[in-house]
Amino acid sequence: MSNGQQNPGRHAQRLTLIAWALAGAVALVGCGEATGEGGSSGATDAAGAADDSAAVGDSAAGSDAGATDTGSDGSGADAAATDASGSGDAGGGPMKIGETIDLGKATIDPQTGYSGALSVEIPAGTVSFAITLIGEKATTYAIDDLKDPTGETLVLKNWGVSDITGGQMCLSCKVRVAPQKGASAALVPNAPGVDVVAGTYTFRVNAFTSTQQGAFSQPKKEPAGGDVAVVVALQKAAAKPKKGRLDINLWYTGANDLSVEKGPTDPRVVQWIARLRTLYEQIGVEIGEVRHFPISADFEVADVTSNDGGDFAAIGAATAGAPAGVNFIFVREISSPFGGFGAVLGVSGGIPGPVGMQGAPRNAVVVSTSDIPGGFGRPAKEHDVGATMAHEGGHYLGLFHTSENDFGGFGPKLHDPLPDTPEKDTTNLMYFDGGSGGSGLSPQQGDVVRGNPWVVPVEEK
Ligand SMILES: [Zn+2]
Repeated sequence: MSNGQQNPGRHAQRLTLIAWALAGAVALVGCGEATGEGGSSGATDAAGAADDSAAVGDSAAGSDAGATDTGSDGSGADAAATDASGSGDAGGGPMKIGETIDLGKATIDPQTGYSGALSVEIPAGTVSFAITLIGEKATTYAIDDLKDPTGETLVLKNWGVSDITGGQMCLSCKVRVAPQKGASAALVPNAPGVDVVAGTYTFRVNAFTSTQQGAFSQPKKEPAGGDVAVVVALQKAAAKPKKGRLDINLWYTGANDLSVEKGPTDPRVVQWIARLRTLYEQIGVEIGEVRHFPISADFEVADVTSNDGGDFAAIGAATAGAPAGVNFIFVREISSPFGGFGAVLGVSGGIPGPVGMQGAPRNAVVVSTSDIPGGFGRPAKEHDVGATMAHEGGHYLGLFHTSENDFGGFGPKLHDPLPDTPEKDTTNLMYFDGGSGGSGLSPQQGDVVRGNPWVVPVEEK
């Protein structure tokens, strides 16, 4: 159904990947993954791959930040571009929601790309928190040198220029961080072994721009300056919650005859939400309120993977004023910088995406509502949109891919920081290849998702 002519993205990805950065990057990006689901269908691999790739792509593409999923996208890029420009960037600035601490703006030294030391006082009763950095749409931001009140290092100093960490994603940090363009967030904790304690956390912000010089090379990073807004969102509870509730906002571009008027009763949407509910039920997360909003048709073909951040800043800005929850933007197609490679099924604003506000760049998960076109000998297949929402939503809430594509052993072998997710387990919802059709989630993945401040703890009876 979609227009796309996208071919499987695999090749593109591969390339990308190769530059290993990618992997990390990808993830960051928000992966554009094609969620497993999508992939699943026969097309699967392709599709799946694409997604992932996409993710990767991001990285590759450039910035790490890229969170974007880059890879994935499909063909519509041009169009997208257009739109993008049309839409402009965010305007009034993000609105904070819920229990947040506003640290105001930090200034970054353009010579070094680092801010001075920042600190936040985390109050007693906080079980987890997310730090969101909000800046310019084409600049990439990352948390650096995060220490807890006891002096323990959670994010390494200068990790972004370390060859060991790859510079794209801090794999050896106790709190894994993935930079993003425009806005970037870190969830504490996002793996076992880190407990939040009350007191003063210190960190700084790293900002850079990156230019991709060909699909095979790592992006070239240059320090960036300017101001960055810093917001810390808290989750407070007596103990780490075993159950939680996630409210969601659905945004309609009008693509595929899905409008804000018809969406709430459209059997497709009803089915997608039911699927999302089923998948998250396994980790004790119920879907609470489901709200429906219109968003500009300019985003019907969304560019959320290009090197300047594409439409992601404008899409995020459009969510200003919405109630708390994760935003899902229903589009017809996600365009790709690789043009013609692969159909991107969805892209998350980050891993995690911005938390505790609406209206920030990347404040959304962008989801294709089109089926997966055939190509390269693969038949077209139905897109399991609900599974894509769950996979990308998983990224938005803080989950990395359980295993990234290692390109037949030629690429880096990357896994998430969770001990209870088996490597190369194609049955997991967060496996990189959406095509595999995985739907499972582990207990530790559940802990991460329920710890995101967007998920409201529910008392057990
Ligand atoms: Zn993914």
